[in-house]
Amino acid sequence: MDVKAGATVAALQAGLPLEPLENRILLCHALGLTRVGLITQSERTITDTEAATLAALVERRLHGEPIAYIVGRREFFGLDFRVTSAVLIPRPDTELLVELALAHLPQQGRVLDMGTGSGAIAVAIAHTRRDAQVTALDVSPAALDIARQNAVTNGARVRLVQSDWFAAISGERFDMVVSNPPYIAKGDAHLSQGDLRFEPSGALTDHADGLSALRIIIAGAPGHLEPGGWLLMEHGYDQAAQVRQLLEEHGYVDVASWRDLAGIERVTGGRAP
Ligand code: GLN
Repeated sequence: MDVKAGATVAALQAGLPLEPLENRILLCHALGLTRVGLITQSERTITDTEAATLAALVERRLHGEPIAYIVGRREFFGLDFRVTSAVLIPRPDTELLVELALAHLPQQGRVLDMGTGSGAIAVAIAHTRRDAQVTALDVSPAALDIARQNAVTNGARVRLVQSDWFAAISGERFDMVVSNPPYIAKGDAHLSQGDLRFEPSGALTDHADGLSALRIIIAGAPGHLEPGGWLLMEHGYDQAAQVRQLLEEHGYVDVASWRDLAGIERVTGGRAP
């Protein structure tokens, strides 16, 4: 794409090739302007450096890179999160898991978030419930680094632990376990489409039938939950019945699924035996 130095902000915006919202986001990012600044400074002219910066950003988007990675940010649960290609981009669907966790968490509850990635779930819970003691784990040091930054910038107190599922937390007990684990089956066509192509595969797929991470969590959580403590997991659009069955086989009670905004059973949980 050719961006002309010397053009006004307004002329530039009108000539960008993406959807209007994406044009605006990249223009704000390249020029260091807010949405309001884009209007109040619409007659300002663009420098060579700004033109080159913007052209590079637009080029990345035209190659399919998610806008959240290009600008390095995504809003989730009303909070601002830093994201890089080391972490899954937080999805609006996952706000359902946060809502359910908040609704079921006892006072001063200890929560464990397994596979925290950007820290979105853990930070949203800790930010909303100052009484909660939130622990978040991930196997990826790069993800934990991002999660730490997100906890700090959002003023949320979260304890971060590097752990391959339950490996590094033996002997610890919690009042609730939450997770948005990798649940897409190996070879699923979605993995080679859209934003998912750019996201860490370890955050998306278990490289198996899609249920293996959910099985590990369901089998292991009773050893780390107080009796009656909730396990709440996000899963794929067609996995709710299988996840309920796994929970029942492991003796969980009050097993239930909840629908996301699209009407899809997206979160399933139960209380530990
Ligand atoms: N919800 C994501 C998607 O399908 C997948 C996230 C995950 O595997 N945990 O785009």
